[in-house]
Amino acid sequence: MALQPWHGRWRLHYPVGEPGRVDCPVAIVGGMVVIETRGLTKEYGKTTAVRDLDLHVEKGEIYGFLGPNGAGKTTTIMMILGLVKPTRGEALIFGSRLDRDYFGLKRRIGVVAEVQRVYEDMTAWEYLNFFGQLYGVPDIKTRAADLLSRLDLYDRRNELLSNYSKGMLQKVNIARALIHDPELLILDEPVSSLDPYGIKEVRDLIMEEHRRGKTIFISSHLLSEVERTCNRVGILDQGTLVAEDTMQSLREKLASEIRLLLEVDAARPEIIEAIRRLPFVKSVEVEDNRVNISTNPDADYRLDVSRAVSEAGGTVMGLSRQEMSLEDAFITITEKHVSQFARKEA
Ligand code: ATP
Repeated sequence: MALQPWHGRWRLHYPVGEPGRVDCPVAIVGGMVVIETRGLTKEYGKTTAVRDLDLHVEKGEIYGFLGPNGAGKTTTIMMILGLVKPTRGEALIFGSRLDRDYFGLKRRIGVVAEVQRVYEDMTAWEYLNFFGQLYGVPDIKTRAADLLSRLDLYDRRNELLSNYSKGMLQKVNIARALIHDPELLILDEPVSSLDPYGIKEVRDLIMEEHRRGKTIFISSHLLSEVERTCNRVGILDQGTLVAEDTMQSLREKLASEIRLLLEVDAARPEIIEAIRRLPFVKSVEVEDNRVNISTNPDADYRLDVSRAVSEAGGTVMGLSRQEMSLEDAFITITEKHVSQFARKEA
């Protein structure tokens, strides 16, 4: 497996014939594109927050927009929402720019921003009813009661928002984003301040909205947050989309990868070459006398590696096997490989 340039971005790629190869890693198939960005770029002085971003989110998808802190997720969302002007490129929602048809499009979208203010002198009940009225929601009271119940806030609906905890406010904001039954939900780090119960309530709500045909775009720096809900993920690193894949395919490719951590007396080129030539080896990284080997997950290849090292004239000082979790894989992609690849290609 390797990261390869693909239509101006990076994708995870298995060479032909390699076990585990899954073609068509990016599910850009027919269907209505709900969010589209074309060459979207934002520069703040010398900082490029977002670089040449081409995103396609289709109707009915739950798309996870992943990236470490500072990767450019919020800036992207702000540009999609027409709240930050791109330096170059454009962002379309339902085929139109939000800043050109703000009121028409806004009715079709529910947004939870990373930092959201509420009217603290209102109760949760008043707050939801206020927004329901703004959007002309029919039967507001039933809708507000339903959302508050699903988020376990109904019994506290008459308390002032100034008395709400951070997590409760987060849930109220999610309810507000849903009050007008929007077709598209854009959620920036939606569960960041929630406890495990709150995370489950929000996750259930998202899944329910998805079953009802809604398109959902969730940004997060936690893979575990989007792992259970999203169909497809895009991984952003330093403003660049470095991988995009279906969740299932990403899991198959990455979670099942096995690493062998080898230490040799001296990492001479002939030893490294002998390891690289082994048919089950996917990639090899060398740092001093330590060799990080990624292999197919179908067997334990420690004996084969050890033999190859001896035959090449080396001595094995240590060899251990490590299974990569999906979270490890995400960190590897964003923090290591991609940055190195990007620098090499620049
Ligand atoms: P986090 O997960 O921490 O919220 P993020 O992925 O949402 O991060 P952004 O907030 O979009 O990242 O920031 C991307 C980059 O752009 C960062 O380097 C940030 O410092 C920079 N940036 C964002 N907004 C501004 C601004 N108004 N002026 C200058 N630089 C900015």
